[in-house]
Amino acid sequence: MSNVHELSFLKEKIQELKDQGVYRKLPVLDTPNQPEVILNGKKVINLSSNNYLGFSNHPRLKKAAMDAIERYGAGAGAVRTIIGNMKIHEDLEALLAKFKREEAAFIYQSGFNCNAGTIQAITEAGDLIISDELNHASIIDGTRLSKAGRAIYKHSDMDSLEEVLKTNRDKYKNILIITDGVFSMDGDIAKLPEIVELAEKYEAMTYVDDAHGSGVLGESGRGTVDHFGLHGRVDFSIGTLSKAIGVVGGYVAGSQTMYDWLNHRARPVLFSTSLPPAAVGAIIEAITMLMESTEYTDRLWDNAKYFKEKLGKLGFNTGHSETPITPVIIGDEGKTMEFSKKLMENGVFVSGIVFPTVPKGTGRVRCMVTAAHTKEQLDEAVRVFELVGKEMGIL
Ligand SMILES: *Cc1c(COP(=O)(O)O)cnc(C)c1O
Repeated sequence: MSNVHELSFLKEKIQELKDQGVYRKLPVLDTPNQPEVILNGKKVINLSSNNYLGFSNHPRLKKAAMDAIERYGAGAGAVRTIIGNMKIHEDLEALLAKFKREEAAFIYQSGFNCNAGTIQAITEAGDLIISDELNHASIIDGTRLSKAGRAIYKHSDMDSLEEVLKTNRDKYKNILIITDGVFSMDGDIAKLPEIVELAEKYEAMTYVDDAHGSGVLGESGRGTVDHFGLHGRVDFSIGTLSKAIGVVGGYVAGSQTMYDWLNHRARPVLFSTSLPPAAVGAIIEAITMLMESTEYTDRLWDNAKYFKEKLGKLGFNTGHSETPITPVIIGDEGKTMEFSKKLMENGVFVSGIVFPTVPKGTGRVRCMVTAAHTKEQLDEAVRVFELVGKEMGIL
């Protein structure tokens, strides 16, 4: 028998990945995450980040991060419940509550952590969690950590959701409906007004994960709830501080009661050190910038519209996105990866996304246009898309 410490059971699994052709090395970025980057030693136009507003390398955020380090140091030094709750953390929560137009906001170390911690804390045995089938992995994990029952409805299918509500309403105490605000693979927006109506009809709570809606949708990026004018009708409004906001972290906005409970029972807050001051300082600056002006979100939408129109005119299938997420659907998995590789060779980085992340036969490269891209960079990317598209017989 082989020695268990050689991890041969993992070596076998890694070999399986190699046999399936899905073993990979991570691309290495050697610049800030910005429109033009050095990736694996090559200068390319970056169409793959979630840095929607160009904040991750913004001078104002960098300055705020350095100021916060000067004042509070490099690390928080403890979990919030002991002595890691700095004034800057509470300042951020107050600002987020104001920005989101909610009573309170509770911060976590990441968006992932926020789902893992919140869902578990607000549900218990005897409750039911109803989830859209395409919800994010961190929602699935958060749900698994809960003792509540689980049910799934078909993606954005309100008949399917109502069916689940109808058959289960009387069997459970509290029901929590969870949806992504924006679905990241197709860029479609959740049917939140209908979801909220069903929730009210069946006395269920609603939980929206707005990771791709924060900083993108609504007035100056206030999110999906603001986009649909549903303030006060969604119980838990989750945002990430890692995507459009450009730094790291997550939060849930809602009532003061929610805040008080999470403050006592959210496990990532009880058992994991709070966000570093530099991150918090930079986030405060980012939210302040969004509250000052809509210029960043305006530019994002303008660039996204410009890029989508150009690709569409060339004859690419850009799907049914309602947000700056721009999928270019190629179909066949091998062809999709080949397309992505050829774009890279020609100086444009867009990662290919294939089964099992998306359904078989719907392989796509997913373009993420940002507010920071210049029209010249977008024109150059379109030129390369046309070149490679023609070369591969896609156009
Ligand atoms: C990215 C994402 C997260 C995780 O957010 P992080 O801040 O990167 O941890 C959670 N939910 C959804 C829907 C996401 O897209």
